[in-house]
Amino acid sequence: MTSLNDLPIRDDLRGLTPYGAPQKHVRVELNVNENTHPVPETVIDDIMVRVRDALTSINRYPDREFTPLRDALATYLGHGLSRDNIWAANGSNEVIQHTLQAFGGPGRSVLAFPPTYSMHKIIAAGSGTQWLTAERGPGFEITPELAVAAIESQRPDVIFFCTPNNPTGTPVSNATIAAAYDATDGMVFVDEAYAEFAPAGSDTALDLLEGRPRLIVSRTMSKAFAFAGARVGYLAADPAVVDALRLVRLPYHLSALTQAAAVGALAHTPEMLGMVDDIKVQRDRLERELAGLGFTPYPSAANFVLFGNVANPQQVFDDLLAQGIIIRDVGIGHHLRVTAGTEQETTEFLSALSALEATLA
Ligand SMILES: *Cc1c(COP(=O)(O)O)cnc(C)c1O
Repeated sequence: MTSLNDLPIRDDLRGLTPYGAPQKHVRVELNVNENTHPVPETVIDDIMVRVRDALTSINRYPDREFTPLRDALATYLGHGLSRDNIWAANGSNEVIQHTLQAFGGPGRSVLAFPPTYSMHKIIAAGSGTQWLTAERGPGFEITPELAVAAIESQRPDVIFFCTPNNPTGTPVSNATIAAAYDATDGMVFVDEAYAEFAPAGSDTALDLLEGRPRLIVSRTMSKAFAFAGARVGYLAADPAVVDALRLVRLPYHLSALTQAAAVGALAHTPEMLGMVDDIKVQRDRLERELAGLGFTPYPSAANFVLFGNVANPQQVFDDLLAQGIIIRDVGIGHHLRVTAGTEQETTEFLSALSALEATLA
């Protein structure tokens, strides 16, 4: 049998492993930070009408510039943004890939602050961008001084921030992002996939875009919008950045069906985001009750909670899975991550966890 190593694959890809969050379908799925609430039926009906309409011209290539979608995303983000500031792709993963294709690549580097979103490193590898890292401070925080020192010593071409950070839930302040911007001639990319779950009045790097043409802020419809299966991510940046991304995208990368569905979802923003407050309540409850059980949850501004003081994460993961509950072992010793689900799912997780024996480290 042929193995990967028998192929003339790029040397820098040899020995790497692909993204591999287990995709198991069980009763309670709290492992990949999806919104566990389904899209409301009324919204589904409207999206169906729009997708049907798109099918009447599906023999033609789609709008390469996805203009109505960029208009809808600009309206959703506000902040004085217009379609010229917006780029979108099949998930924010593809938006990140476009960014590294244009601004990273062979001979260039990206700096990140682990533990962070595992796909950032994988997309760096796929695009041939050197992966540089710097340590976070206490509580997984990144102060302006820490960010500037890392940038000055490593001189990366691209800097990745993730706020609130996956898997820790930690926000990054605008002070840190602005200081990082001033310390580099490179691109500063801020992944705000979980922005809608942050407390009201939290920093968003959208507020920093004006006058900073090397800053990129990405968002996704996969989490708060409950639209992970549709694959729609997007970014806001200077129009010149968007022009740069046009150089690397494949033409017609967003299908007409995706565009129609996303525009439909955005036309129902209040209903689509209707469950966000409930999820935040369950997130806060997870923090409280996990602490009550003797674990050490980290304060989270996202829809998940990382908790430490777990004796044997693999064992707890397996024991929960045996009961039809899947959470995530993110590879940090004595830690696990759980997504805030519906009230019922969160209750099931907490009671199953509290019934397990000898879980505390
Ligand atoms: C889930 C997640 C995304 C979303 O990726 P999509 O490709 O838009 O589904 C992006 N960034 C982070 C940090 C995430 O956790």
